Amino acid sequence: MSHRVVVVGAGYAGLLAAKRLAHKLRRSDATVTLVNASDRFVERVRLHQLAAGQRLAGLSLRQQLRGTSVELVVARVTAIDTAGRTLCMDVAPGVIGYDTLVYALGSRGRLDDVPGAVEHAYTVADLEHATRLRHRVAELASGGTVAVVGGGLTGLETASELAESYPELRVRLLTGADDIGSGLVARARTHLRRALDRLDVSVHPKTVVAAVRRDGLNIRDGAPFAADAVVWTTGFRTPELARAAGFATDESGRILVDATLRSVSHPEVYAVGDAAAGVSVSGAPSRMSCQTALPMGRGVADVIAARLMGRDPGPVRIGYIFTNISLGRRDGVVQFTHADDRPRRFVLTGRAAAAFKETVVRSTVRSGPRGELGRDESGS
Ligand SMILES: Cc1cc2nc3c(=O)[nH]c(=O)nc-3n(C[C@H](O)[C@H](O)[C@H](O)COP(=O)(O)OP(=O)(O)OC[C@H]3O[C@@H](n4cnc5c(N)ncnc54)[C@H](O)[C@@H]3O)c2cc1C
Repeated sequence: MSHRVVVVGAGYAGLLAAKRLAHKLRRSDATVTLVNASDRFVERVRLHQLAAGQRLAGLSLRQQLRGTSVELVVARVTAIDTAGRTLCMDVAPGVIGYDTLVYALGSRGRLDDVPGAVEHAYTVADLEHATRLRHRVAELASGGTVAVVGGGLTGLETASELAESYPELRVRLLTGADDIGSGLVARARTHLRRALDRLDVSVHPKTVVAAVRRDGLNIRDGAPFAADAVVWTTGFRTPELARAAGFATDESGRILVDATLRSVSHPEVYAVGDAAAGVSVSGAPSRMSCQTALPMGRGVADVIAARLMGRDPGPVRIGYIFTNISLGRRDGVVQFTHADDRPRRFVLTGRAAAAFKETVVRSTVRSGPRGELGRDESGS
C-alpha cells in the first residue's frame, strides 16, 4: 500500500504543502489528501477588506488543485486519534487514516480574552466572523461608533479600512500599549499616526478593556466606552484539536516542532503555519504570518519527500523581509526588516507602500513553483 500523507487545513501553508508534496512524490509511492472545512481558499490577509464591504475574488480549491494528484476532502476535522492514526470528520465516511499528517489548521480570533467578547465582539480572523462584521457595519447609522480593540497590525489595518470605506462612522482604536506601531522605526510610526489622523481614527493608548457589552466596553481603571460595534483584534489563537489529541504544544496551543517542522512528541506528525510553534533564524518563535506559513508549507513538503525517499532533510529556514501594513486602499507602511525581524532603516510609505502590499498579497496566492497556489476563478 502506498504511503498516505494527509494535510489538514488548506490555508497558505497547507495548500502549498499539499501541492508541492504531490509534485515531488510518485503516486505509486504516496497519496496526498487535503482536508479542509470548505471548498474555497480564503485569503485571510484580505478579511478586513471584506469586513469593510469590499468584494473579494472567489478562489476555488478544486480549481487550485486541477492538474495535481491531490485529493480534496471537504470536511471539518473534529478530532485526531494519534494511536489509530486517524482523523475524525463531520461528513461521511467520518474517519480518514494517515501515515504522515501535516497539521495546518491556522488560527482564529482570541474572543475568549475577556468576558462578553464571544457574545458581543466581532473579529476579522476568519471568513464567518468577518462576514458578520461586514453586515453589522453596513447597517450602522451615520455617526455610529466602531471600537477596534488591539493596536497590532490587524487592528491598524481594520481601523483604517473601515474608516476609509465608512467615513460617516466614528472609528476608535483602543490599545493597552503606550503607543501604536511597536517594531517600526520612527519615520514609519510618524506616517502611521498621520494616516490615522487623516482617516479620522482616534487612538486610545493605555486603554485596557476588561469586558465587552452589547453597547460597548468596560475599561479597566476608566469610564465605560460606548460603541455600536466592537472588533476584537488582540491576536490569534490556534484550534484546540492539537492539545486535545495530546501533541506537545506551547501555551497558545501551537504544536512544538523541531527544525524540520516535525512534532517533538509525535514523529509522524508535522505542523506548519499559524498552528506551528516554529523557530525563526533568530531563535525567536515564528510569528503568525504568511511570511512564516509559505516557507513552512514549502519546507515541510521537501522534508517529508526527502524522508520518504530515504534521505536526511536539512532544517527549514524561516526568516523575515518586511512588515507590511495597509492603511486603506491608497496608503500603507512597509517596514523592511532583518531576517530576525528587527527593523531596518528603510521604510516605504503612502501609495508606493499600498501598491507594494497589493503586489505581495497577489503574488502570495499566485506565485511559487508550478503555480503553487494557483489563480483565481476570474483569471484576473
Ligand atoms: C485581517 C488579517 C490580515 C492579515 N494580514 C497579514 C499580512 O498582511 N501579512 C501576513 O503575513 N499575514 C497576515 N495575516 C495573517 C495570515 O493571514 C496568517 O498568518 C495565515 O493565514 C496563516 O496561514 P495558515 O495556512 O497557517 O492558516 P490559514 O490561512 O488560517 O488556513 C487554515 C485553514 O484550515 C482550515 N480549518 C481550520 N479548522 C479546520 C478544521 N477543524 N477542519 C478542517 N479545516 C479546518 C481553515 O478553513 C483554513 O482553510 C493577516 C490575518 C488577518 C486575519
